[in-house]
Parts: sequence; C-alpha cells; structure tokens
Amino acid sequence: MKYSLIEDMFPQYLAFKSSEILKDQIVINFDSQQKHMKCPRCGRESNQITTYFNRTLQDLPIIDRTLFLKIRLKKFRCLNHDCEQKIFNETINEVAFSGERRTKRLNDMLVKFALLHTAEGASRFLKQNHILISGDTLLRMTMNWEPEIDYIKIEVIGIDDFCTKKKHYYGTIIIDLGTNKEVEILNSRDTQNANKALMKYTNLKIISRDRGVQYQSINGNYTHVADRSHLLTNLSDWLIREMKRQLPSQYILRNYESAFNGSPDKNSPDIIVNSDATKRKFEIIEKARLLSRQGYSQRHIAEVLSMDR
Ligand SMILES: [Zn+2]
Repeated sequence: MKYSLIEDMFPQYLAFKSSEILKDQIVINFDSQQKHMKCPRCGRESNQITTYFNRTLQDLPIIDRTLFLKIRLKKFRCLNHDCEQKIFNETINEVAFSGERRTKRLNDMLVKFALLHTAEGASRFLKQNHILISGDTLLRMTMNWEPEIDYIKIEVIGIDDFCTKKKHYYGTIIIDLGTNKEVEILNSRDTQNANKALMKYTNLKIISRDRGVQYQSINGNYTHVADRSHLLTNLSDWLIREMKRQLPSQYILRNYESAFNGSPDKNSPDIIVNSDATKRKFEIIEKARLLSRQGYSQRHIAEVLSMDR
C-alpha cells in the first residue's frame, strides 16, 4: 500500500512502519516519535521512558476494508518525586482520547450517523460498509454525545417550558434565536435551574419568553420580550374568552321543523335546508335532545347515535 497517499491524514509524530493488507482489513503500523510528555497529575514534563505498549484503533475504512491503526506508544516515568503518579502513558489526543478504541474522526462520523438511525439498523449498515461497531456502543455514544456549542456567541434566546407528563414532569428548552437551533434542554422548569444554566451564556442580552412565572425572575440584566407565537396565543385566548362572555352559548334555530317537510320558512334567516344530509343532521339533533330530556348521559347518547361526544 502506498502510505504516502494518506500520510497527511495522520500527525507527523506517528512514523509509518509497515502496512498489512488482509482479506477484509488493512492494518497500518506506526511508531510514535514523541520524545517527552507532561505528567497528567503534576504537569511536569518527562523524557524518561520505562517501557512501550501498543494501542489499536479503528479508523475510517479505506474503500472496501476496515482500517486499523496499530501504534507503539511509550510509558513515561514522572520525574517529580513528590508526585503520586509514578508511571504514565503517552497520549495521542489529536488522534484518539485515552481509552478510546476508535479515532476521533471515526467517532464523529458514527455519532452523526447514529443520531439519524436506529442503533441496531445503523450497526448493520456500518458493518456492510466496513465499520465494526455494535448497536449498544452506538446507543451509548449518542446518549453521551453533547453538541459543541459556543455559548459566548449567543446573545438572544427563546426559553419555554414543556411537559412530558402533565402535572408531573416538566422541562425547559432553550433556543438560540440567532440560529433558531435548540441549545439545551433542562430537566425541570425551576427558575433556579434556568439561572444556573444561563450562567455560561456570558454575552446574553435578550430573553424571549411567555408570560408564565417560571422565567420572570431569571437573574441577570436581560431584556425580556414576548415572542410572536405567545402573543398570538394570548390574543386568541383572549378572543375566545371574550366571545364566550359576550355571545350566548346557544342559538335557537327557529322553525327548523319545516326542514323535515322540505318547505323552509322563507321568513326565517336562521335556517337553510337544501339537502338530505342536512335533514339527517336535524334528525340526529332531535334524537339527541330527546334522549337528553329523558336523562341519559352524554356518553350514552353519543354511543346510541354513534357519534363523538
Ligand atoms: Zn507527576
């Protein structure tokens, strides 16, 4: 395999040693050339190598083969005698974080893919495309996934509550109104929780919200505005209330009996009967009223007349 074709895809300190092309996979062997490393506990740099170890990472596939990187890494001795960490492993965080079995670029692709598909379906498809990963691992990756959000850039948010079970479970959703994208979901609608979450929005200027009490007392010198959706909802709620207050609950259809003999009273503006369907409707209304007068419940009447309550 001509490694030179893909050598730019790897950091320079990974020196190519050899490659093996097998039936269903390609293995590239590397030697890490990093000469020193900082102790993860005390931060002191060390160049004292104690031993070596190998890490195998799955990477993005090459054409029709699964790709594995086998990298020889070092174990360093911490030179700080007061440090509790005597030996520590060489890291290659540019390629993969410690403990990971896949490269960062493969993980990034997998998460994007798994977010759009069922875990088991995604696992089967990926296997056909030379990426080996179980459905359970994909599921765990998506559950641990957090979008990379630059909270400092967010200046205007929309905040609202929602419920997953009425009177039991409520949450809060925060939307970046600069991008109209969801930023985060909080597991309650408490003001305290919202305050805590908003601390990281250091450049936040405007909060768009409804008129509920949850977010009225959010800390911080923000401008609170009502959004169009809530204004329209408030307006329509008010209109319905006002119409209910001003209009009678029922209108009497005068002379509707004339509907049944097909000779509507021309003096009555309240009723126009011009079809069999309308006649049937009046018949049902009449039956419903009769049953109601006889003391039957709405449920019973609805069942008898095969209609919704
Ligand atoms: Zn140390």
